[in-house]
Amino acid sequence: MDTPAISVSNLSKKYGDVLAVNDASFDVPLGTICGFVGPNGSGKTTTIRMLLGLIKPTHGSGSIIGKPINHPDKYLHEVGAMIEGPAFYPALSGLENLKLLAKLGGIPLSRCQELLELVDLGDRGKDKYKTYSLGMKQRLGIAAALLPNPKLLILDEPTNGLDPSGIQEVRDLLEKLASEGVTVFVSSHLLSELEMISKYLVMLRKGEVVFAGPMQELLHRSKPTIIAKPSTINSLNYLAELINKTGHQAIIESDHVRVDADESFAVQLNKIAFEGGIVLAQLTPVRASLEETFFKMTEDSE
Ligand code: ADP
Ligand code: MG
Repeated sequence: MDTPAISVSNLSKKYGDVLAVNDASFDVPLGTICGFVGPNGSGKTTTIRMLLGLIKPTHGSGSIIGKPINHPDKYLHEVGAMIEGPAFYPALSGLENLKLLAKLGGIPLSRCQELLELVDLGDRGKDKYKTYSLGMKQRLGIAAALLPNPKLLILDEPTNGLDPSGIQEVRDLLEKLASEGVTVFVSSHLLSELEMISKYLVMLRKGEVVFAGPMQELLHRSKPTIIAKPSTINSLNYLAELINKTGHQAIIESDHVRVDADESFAVQLNKIAFEGGIVLAQLTPVRASLEETFFKMTEDSE
């Protein structure tokens, strides 16, 4: 198997009595955008801090691009990161801030303007950081994380607090980076902010991984149903009865029945309705939204 971008096994972090991350195991392949989602307090930042070698796990192990996380010096030159909002000098311009970081990191200063253009701040580079909108600040933070030309970019809640257009700008930027071959690991407490761009997903709930895998797989887990609406409402009970006889459960909802079945059952459903003398006005397979699936998987079950 190819070296994963991130691999953790049985990773745990305890703060006193608080188990912030509990026996987490997941792999993230290289070359993807991976969403890292879970409600506030579910352990995202703690996990990211362990991945970056900022704090030590209580148990378990992990590796970044094949190098163990207890030796961050071996991989940090390949990783760009931004945790919980960037920190810059407010009175310096965006460009000056980047140049300062580039100097410290021994990175050619010419890269700074290039990066400003990449994050769509090319014409605002000379303006003071304190005049930037929150979205511009986040994008400057991403530019700073990109200074070492990393293979892997780890971003903690870069869309937090942004308005919809700011969120869209960050999304567009992440997709652009991914298309250039950067692996992106990005957290959010809102799946809706990441579901459109994530090819891969890791979901946390109370420190535990409740899902890790391709986005497609999660879509398949959301429960499919079929809505069938007879043309006359008085045949509703009879339609439900006919469906129940097939072994699928039909629930009557106002003017239609909802059937626990995937879309492959639609043909048979149409046939039994027809044979029972019922004309269907609507026959529609539906799938729970990803957001509903997310809430089911991450909701508090206590
Ligand atoms: P998230 O980033 O998903 O919001 P965090 O990783 O910040 O979650 O927090 C997970 C849990 O660990 C929370 O209950 C939080 O209060 C606790 N926690 C995080 N950092 C610390 C710390 N430095 N000391 C004590 N508890 C902490
Ligand atoms: Mg956090």
